[in-house]
Amino acid sequence: MNSKCHRVELNDGHFIPVLGFGTAIPSEVSKSKATEATRIAIDAGFRHIDSAHMYQNEEEVGLAIRSKIEDGTVKREDIFYTSKLWCTFHRPELVKSCLEQSLKKLQLDYVDLYLINFPMALKAMEKCKDAGLAKSIGVSNFNRRQLEMILNKPGLKYKPVCNQVECHPYLNQNKLLDFCKSKDIVLVAYSALGTHRDKHWVDQSTPVLLDDPVLASMAKKYKQTPALIALRYQIQRGVVVLAKSLNEARIKENMQVFEFQLCPEDMKVLDGLNRNLRYVAGVVFSGHPNFPFSDEY
Ligand code: NAP
Repeated sequence: MNSKCHRVELNDGHFIPVLGFGTAIPSEVSKSKATEATRIAIDAGFRHIDSAHMYQNEEEVGLAIRSKIEDGTVKREDIFYTSKLWCTFHRPELVKSCLEQSLKKLQLDYVDLYLINFPMALKAMEKCKDAGLAKSIGVSNFNRRQLEMILNKPGLKYKPVCNQVECHPYLNQNKLLDFCKSKDIVLVAYSALGTHRDKHWVDQSTPVLLDDPVLASMAKKYKQTPALIALRYQIQRGVVVLAKSLNEARIKENMQVFEFQLCPEDMKVLDGLNRNLRYVAGVVFSGHPNFPFSDEY
């Protein structure tokens, strides 16, 4: 089944596929892997690709997308491509140039969604949407207070369509999700499978999400895998979910998320796994005045 059929409408009228392919790969892995994995993902049915200036592989990801357009597998309009502005480009006059650099690397005319991490660059982001370089604009790693700050901004032209945040059964973001839903903002879950546990970013003493015994027993019950249970959980609660994999079998496996359904009781059990565990705690940024993870949500 194709993820193109499984889309939700954003508050600006565009549609986002509920399952996305994550392309952040560890620096020690060859960049060509991003091309290979993205091609496999498109062949497997992924239509939403999540990348960023910071991942330093937009050239490789763009190559995969264009090759799949050229061989007739997809059209440009079938693909929902997200890029993100990196923190060093927040000055309004730099925003458009960061997006233009991404587009040049991708060799695409527009991105479907452009995300920012901090409020300062909002006006310049709106201009990117007006210029047609980004179909939709959204935010990432915003807490409730920061979202409210944006929503209450005088003269706000476009409200963000989404907030992309870490979200999985150990950090289910229930309160933030309720708030986003109340404002018609889609919550996009990253690290939904518990991250790649890069030692530079993730405390190695934290429990491994996919080893969780409840996920394991549910996987057995539904004849699925713990990863699929974790992905399905998000889709059923109205969250758009990203899954990163460089492995062909696992990329294909993740598309199976549309082939089964969790019962309401099991959804509650999964809700009960929450322990507010943030794998990507971003402690290196913790001194910044806009550091988002000090608030409760
Ligand atoms: P993730 O999706 O949580 O995946 C974690 C690991 O799970 C992967 O390294 C993958 O390893 C493994 N995996 C994938 N499918 C599996 C399966 N079916 N069974 C078992 N293991 C499986 O990884 P993430 O990179 O932390 O997050 C996903 C994406 O979210 C990123 O690539 C990026 O696009 C985005 N992101 C955004 C932000 C932000 O600040 N906005 C932050 C982090 C991530 P293999 O490759 O070996 O399969």
